[in-house]
Amino acid sequence: MKKEVRKAVIAGNWKMNKTPKEAVELINEIKPLVKDATCDVVVCVPFVCLDAAVKACEGTNIKVGAENMHFEKSGAFTGEISADMLKAVGTEYVVLGHSERRQYFGETDETVNKKVLAALSNGLKPILCVGETLKDRENTITNELVAMQTKIALLDVSEKDLENVIIAYEPVWAIGTGKTATSDQADEVNGVIRNVIKEVYGEVAAEKITIQYGGSMNASNCDELLSKVNVDGGLIGGASLKAADFATIVNAACK
Ligand code: PEP
Repeated sequence: MKKEVRKAVIAGNWKMNKTPKEAVELINEIKPLVKDATCDVVVCVPFVCLDAAVKACEGTNIKVGAENMHFEKSGAFTGEISADMLKAVGTEYVVLGHSERRQYFGETDETVNKKVLAALSNGLKPILCVGETLKDRENTITNELVAMQTKIALLDVSEKDLENVIIAYEPVWAIGTGKTATSDQADEVNGVIRNVIKEVYGEVAAEKITIQYGGSMNASNCDELLSKVNVDGGLIGGASLKAADFATIVNAACK
């Protein structure tokens, strides 16, 4: 596997944090710290912050993503946001299938697949999250489960469209807990995901796809995690809310 053929992507997942004004303040702090980054830098922000974030990022190397979307185009889906709406305010990326959405909002592999297809057909780049719970890991089904989540989420996605997909391996037990997967664990599961891509789409697609690790990645452990051949960046929760820490991770991914 040649890591050099892939562009590292560091994406912040702000979750339910920041008002539009606070979002602009944080982006303005991040901007100068990441301006020379050779990897891709994304901030995924709450819906109400998207417009302000896109404007604050204009003319910079920071791209903006949403944290979720609905798969339907429009209609009677109170409280939901469509891909069209995200595009209309300049959103480029969208986090899909995050474990918090699966856990608290009833998302399934099937709805995640519908969302991935809707995002791609509207020109949005999905950051597709997969990962096992602690129970799954203890039951030694991590690899099978993550392979299945990946396969189902990508059903009917063409090889061409796959070029716009980023996959984030996020062990549920490591998200927001301060417990990080070891770099070997992250590399192993990212490798399993890459093998699924190879099986379904072939070697070239598998070499090209960006597979991030997410789960308590921070300024202290990022070097070790990002050094692994199958870890092409990170999806960062807590540490993405601190400009200096986020920038440290971005700059580690550019080495
Ligand atoms: C996440 O929300 O995707 C995440 C990885 O969170 P944290 O970095 O806080 O574990």
